[in-house]
Amino acid sequence: MFASLEGRSVIVTGGSKGIGRGIALRFGLAGCQVLVVARNFKSAEAVAGEIGAAGGTALGFAADVTRQAEMQAMAEAAVESFGGIDILCANAGIFPAAKLGVMTEAEFDAVIGTNLKGNFLAVSACLPAMRARKNGRIILTSSITGPVTGYPGWAHYGASKAGQLGFMRTAAIELARDGITVNAVLPGNIATEGLSVMGADYVQQMEAAVPMRRLGSVADIANAALFFASDEAAYITGQSLVVDGGQILPEALSAMQD
Ligand code: NAP
Repeated sequence: MFASLEGRSVIVTGGSKGIGRGIALRFGLAGCQVLVVARNFKSAEAVAGEIGAAGGTALGFAADVTRQAEMQAMAEAAVESFGGIDILCANAGIFPAAKLGVMTEAEFDAVIGTNLKGNFLAVSACLPAMRARKNGRIILTSSITGPVTGYPGWAHYGASKAGQLGFMRTAAIELARDGITVNAVLPGNIATEGLSVMGADYVQQMEAAVPMRRLGSVADIANAALFFASDEAAYITGQSLVVDGGQILPEALSAMQD
């Protein structure tokens, strides 16, 4: 039986949709106080409202993870509203596709800026509050794409997601003595608003490539994040957990035949 996370203060970036919404709802149901963060305030507030309607405590907050001042304002809002920051789920990310030869410098910078620099800015902003308590949990949403696999159109995305793990390993060492752990969840293909933009053909191809023959749910990822946030995971840091229904396992197409 896991110890309760009731009352813990949690920030979820990219909490208004998809995986981040799933994480926010899961922590809200676990009795945490959740700051739901996205650029669009109304959609962040709507998820906070869902948590409130289910009996939890949550607030929406508008902030862009690529802007340092907005990340600092986010951390200040959590401290002011919830008394501190126990858990940061650095989840906001974008995955626009562009193949090499067509991909522009601006597209590359946007993906690295949101997915990788955004982690740095969110973590940096939350550190003073976590250090003050000598306790904290940082959970990054990375991906199998980059750290383990590749996919055409996502060279910039894969680089950003692999970069998150490089960032994580050094951050885990630097923050260990402050009682702060840093870990990452690596989702496979998860049914989200963002993924649906890829189209029905993409979704069908991915389902066929997963040994479990289905996409993952946002709850699958949220449960992994909840584990890293638990007291029972206190001695785990700098680690990554693949949650993908077995997608990275087959050595050959024949391994997927019945
Ligand atoms: P999604 O459905 O598109 O949702 C993205 C969320 O991030 C939204 O809340 C969005 O809200 C927010 N966001 C985007 N840019 C932001 C910024 N600059 N500042 C603050 N918030 C921002 O995406 P998802 O599929 O749930 O993906 C979430 C994370 O999981 C990403 O890091 C992604 O790389 C990772 N992931 C997803 C999958 C998958 O299959 N879906 C697989 C592997 C990894 P606003 O637009 O209002 O800001």
